Amino acid sequence: IRQKIVAGNWKMNGSTESITALVTDLLKAGHSNSEVVVSPSFPYLHLVSTLCAQSDLVKLAAQNVSDKESGAFTGEVSASMLEDFGVKYVLVGHSERRSLYGETDDLVALKIQSLLNKDFTPMFCIGETLEEREAGQTLAVCERQIQAVLSLLGVEAFNRIVIAYEPVWAIGTGLSATSEQAQEVHCGIRAFIAKSSNLVAQRVQILYGGSVKASTSRALFAMPDIDGALVGGASLDAKEFLEIVKAAG
Ligand code: 13P
Repeated sequence: IRQKIVAGNWKMNGSTESITALVTDLLKAGHSNSEVVVSPSFPYLHLVSTLCAQSDLVKLAAQNVSDKESGAFTGEVSASMLEDFGVKYVLVGHSERRSLYGETDDLVALKIQSLLNKDFTPMFCIGETLEEREAGQTLAVCERQIQAVLSLLGVEAFNRIVIAYEPVWAIGTGLSATSEQAQEVHCGIRAFIAKSSNLVAQRVQILYGGSVKASTSRALFAMPDIDGALVGGASLDAKEFLEIVKAAG
């Protein structure tokens, strides 16, 4: 049985004041059977790590990482730097990184490699655009994105990766995939990995992301291949986010 993960991707939002308040509220909620994760921007990792240090309730994720180890790469952050901040997960290949900052499938695979060289769990984001969905390319796109990682690192790497299926057309649009639509793709993703290893496919956690709200989360989590959620906008509101955590059980 796969443990559920509910992760909040705060994107480029928050301040010392608002993040302190948000984390304080999240910590008040107490124990959950799911893994609860928050992902602040780099400058706030230390703050959130300090706030969460006394409890094991909330795990920390970074939103990005460099594929390089160190050196003359102005503005980049390496995996070894993240080791200093109690980070467990790192988002990789988010569609905003792919579409706005030109990240390719190959670069995303290299970033995952740099994380697996350390002790991080990559949250590997994949998903199709509306145009690709309408052209019937949804699974082909997800498979191409996954194949880049399979080719570089092999299927065993997926023992240490969490996949986040985030259809681009559902991100920040209020237009969530239905639980049936999401389940269909999650099942297809698992079947694709099963072609390389059935065992790895059964173990790998696949999260759904894209306009997840408290009101839609229960139906999503009831689906057999949906192992949690990667939540954007709704994760900035403690009450809403905690309701999603509760729905995950
Ligand atoms: P929204 O929940 O705001 O649609 O964002 C989803 C997302 O991109 C999480 O990584």
